[in-house]
Amino acid sequence: MSDIPLLPQVEAFLRRPHGLFIDGVNVRSHSSQTLAVTNPATGQVIAQVADADLADIDAAVDSANRGFQLWSQAAPATRGNVLLKLADLLERNREELAQIETCQSGKIIQISRAFEVDQAAHFLRYYAGWATKLSGQTLTPSLPSFNGERYTAFTLREPVGVVVGIVPWNFSTMIAIWKLASALVTGCSIIIKPSEFTPLTLLRIAELAIEAGLPAGVLNVLTGGGHVGKGLVEHPGTHKVSFTGSVPTGIAVGRSAMGAGLTRATLELGGKNAAGFLRDVDVDKAVDGIIEAGFLHSGQICAAAERFFVHRSQIDAVLEKLKLRLSRLNIGSPLDEHTEFGPVTHHQHQLKLLGYFTQARAENNTIIHGGTLIDRPGCYVEPTVILANSINDTLLNEETFGPIATFLPYDSDEELLALMNNGPYGLSASLWTNDLGKALRMVPAIHAGTVWVNMHTLLDPAVPFGGSRSSGIGREFGSAFIEDYTELKSVMIRY
Ligand code: NDP
Repeated sequence: MSDIPLLPQVEAFLRRPHGLFIDGVNVRSHSSQTLAVTNPATGQVIAQVADADLADIDAAVDSANRGFQLWSQAAPATRGNVLLKLADLLERNREELAQIETCQSGKIIQISRAFEVDQAAHFLRYYAGWATKLSGQTLTPSLPSFNGERYTAFTLREPVGVVVGIVPWNFSTMIAIWKLASALVTGCSIIIKPSEFTPLTLLRIAELAIEAGLPAGVLNVLTGGGHVGKGLVEHPGTHKVSFTGSVPTGIAVGRSAMGAGLTRATLELGGKNAAGFLRDVDVDKAVDGIIEAGFLHSGQICAAAERFFVHRSQIDAVLEKLKLRLSRLNIGSPLDEHTEFGPVTHHQHQLKLLGYFTQARAENNTIIHGGTLIDRPGCYVEPTVILANSINDTLLNEETFGPIATFLPYDSDEELLALMNNGPYGLSASLWTNDLGKALRMVPAIHAGTVWVNMHTLLDPAVPFGGSRSSGIGREFGSAFIEDYTELKSVMIRY
């Protein structure tokens, strides 16, 4: 077992001096500050990116406003075609993009290929289809007619303007593509601020967008720390923010957006998602489900489950098989195609997870498996299974965003629903059972933007996604995104 060799173009890309992507080209930042990008599998610094400053933000916003003037007037089919060409280019450069992503995030190479490239292309094509289908309505007002006059009305869907897309580090390409595609298909321009931990892949994708025919200024990419996102949200020249990230940052972004003159804000935030296993579920299927729900990409998925509720009659059997399965996982380098479980994406996150292990022990939780860092270079953390004592335990309430599955047994379906709904969040949940009728009766009682049955975590562009309660405001995908990226203009005519 060994690492795949990096493509020459990946080596060359990593060696390049990385600027900001403004007005269709890579430009040097006004700031002399840079941020190091570290490969979490090795701990080695692989690139330096600019930490943009206020002058860079002004330049990107000016460029995006010029881009908007042009792009909002483009024919819908032209907009769709650019997204289709970008999807083709992602696929043509699949291995290069996947390798860059794996080097910066530690995502195992198969996940980079399948999600960050293939799924991103799939999303682009889905959104491209909407370009020619956005429409308003015709309406007939009931106003009084005194002299035979009549009335008609229609609505126009108009792009909101310059969008700020703020992206977290866990799926730096796919989440950026969701925002980029929603903005571009509706006729908006967009400035994307990737996470400081994973800024590289998007800089390459911006070049591909120009190759796909996107006019300069319609997509700008500003790298840098959180201050760059804040500066963009508060800038008077931006009109909407689409933020994906943690709940505390999301609340701060929402506040800044409102304070900046009611800038529209969509907030896709985290949560503490639950998976409930009904009494009838087969133990082997339950274990497969727990691995899908809790351990894909080392649990660094907003929709992943972190709270697992298993019927008391089955919990011992489930935990025993899960421990066995996790102990056989092939943990290793994310560039090795045999690896099933790689590092987490950055060192601070690794330390945060270590803190949760300490907390679980302090609260006398039982560590069934893992509960330590892995003694090798890089940011490795054992896949971990914890049995809690009470629904109030920290590991059943705080989002760890890591490979930690915390369990609690339950006795009745009513208790299961109460446990699943405990806490302020509502991003996603899943039910696992052979009794589909029972599951469908339980679904309406679950507080979550998405409820899966016998599956967890997988997203499709046709199905709206977003959080209820403290997990966010707004929905992506389906037709739901249209509301967020367009304004409705009413036109009324007397004749
Ligand atoms: P953060 O909230 O820390 O950061 C998200 C983005 O916001 C980053 O680009 C960050 O920049 C930027 N940022 C930081 N401070 C500000 C600010 N004041 N104003 C504007 N932007 C700012 O989240 P993480 O990157 O740590 O991502 C993990 C979180 O994201 C988890 O809670 C997870 O659940 C959530 N998430 C939600 C998803 C959903 O669809 N609901 C999907 C994926 C993740 P920088 O990194 O440079 O600090």
